[in-house]
Amino acid sequence: MKAEIIPVGTEILLGNIIDTNSCFLANQLPLLGIDLYFISTAGDNQKRLVDTLKRAWKRADLIITTGGLGPTQDDISREAISQLVNEEPKVDEKLWQELQDLLRRYLGEIPQSNIRQATTIPSAKIIPNRMGTAPGWWLEKEDHIVIALPGPSDEMKMMWLESVLPKLKQRVTGEVILSRVIKTFRLAEAKVDELVAHLSKLPNPTLATYINPDGVYLRITAKAKEKAEAQRLIAQSEGQIRNILSPHIWGVDDDTLDSVIGELLRSRDWSLATMESCTEGLLSSTIASNQGSHTYFKGGLLACCDEAKVAYGLDASIMERYGKESTQVDSAMAQTARRNLKTDVGMAVGGNLNPEENSGVAFIGLSSDEFEKTFTHMLRGNRSRMKQRAVYAALFDLRKILVEEVQCT
Ligand code: ATP
Repeated sequence: MKAEIIPVGTEILLGNIIDTNSCFLANQLPLLGIDLYFISTAGDNQKRLVDTLKRAWKRADLIITTGGLGPTQDDISREAISQLVNEEPKVDEKLWQELQDLLRRYLGEIPQSNIRQATTIPSAKIIPNRMGTAPGWWLEKEDHIVIALPGPSDEMKMMWLESVLPKLKQRVTGEVILSRVIKTFRLAEAKVDELVAHLSKLPNPTLATYINPDGVYLRITAKAKEKAEAQRLIAQSEGQIRNILSPHIWGVDDDTLDSVIGELLRSRDWSLATMESCTEGLLSSTIASNQGSHTYFKGGLLACCDEAKVAYGLDASIMERYGKESTQVDSAMAQTARRNLKTDVGMAVGGNLNPEENSGVAFIGLSSDEFEKTFTHMLRGNRSRMKQRAVYAALFDLRKILVEEVQCT
């Protein structure tokens, strides 16, 4: 079965909202073995939406729209779908009664415009919406299925999972498509591509490489009749990739660098404190954003100037001797963080960012009873990109030390 998703909304075309609905649906369809070839965004214009639907009708068996099911004049998905299948929308009296009861309960009044949400056409069946007022449509005609879901993501997801997914499962007899993402670091995309070139040429599983701020990712995608077979194909391919890239792999699928660091610290029962300057708090906020980070991350010191470093207890003579930004100062910052917050590990990021020239340097300091380490990283890009790179560099340095040099007891 081939699908096309049509997110509806001028807000999406204007860049006011991000189309996360398509992202969710695009992740769901492969699990049913449904191929998705196109996502075609349409604004709140009936003629253009009908054109988009007609194009989708020619190249897909399943069309899913999201949005445009509200009560106002610019909510045009119902009308456009009716026009597509050439049927006249009429008010469904039972549905209108239910909707009025709902509106009376929650709003205390019944805006007449809501009657639009009680219209339907003969080929459409109503998909109930427990969370909002916009019911969806499940429509079948001439070997096509058209599903209309509302825009708000929580309503759309709930209706998908409760009503659409079970129904679609009964209809598809296709193959299962599964994916796995392998995350690498400190390798250029071209290098990764070169190292796995022989695997990239295979038709099943397929392999795609793409770059992210925290490294190059490889996505393995396998197609099979049964889930177990797709899993076997993925495991085989992952094994081959690990044989080639093992020292550079830091995570899979939903792993994030902060969650991986968290796991490494937790498994050693170690606590962490940070001190940073040029990254302006991004280091501590990245570490703290991992759920459960309070079990190992005690906090971060932000020093926006040299006085602050000294106020936190850093020996001013180190700055005089080695320069204000230097590996020695960062080493002392890591020790200062550790001392202040009484943790097992101290981590520091300092350096110079020069956004006018799109270049900079980051110094990383790591301190514990087991190790004292410093690293230097040259940075490129605009200010926010350099800050992010410095943070990832620090986290990768910490990961390297924890994985390679410290035995887990
Ligand atoms: P409502 O009854 O709330 O008007 P609707 O089906 O008419 O629902 P829209 O008016 O198109 O939906 O969008 C309502 C809100 O839903 C948007 O303001 C936005 O927050 C969210 N939304 C719409 N489309 C998307 C999308 N593709 N991805 C993520 N969020 C979306």
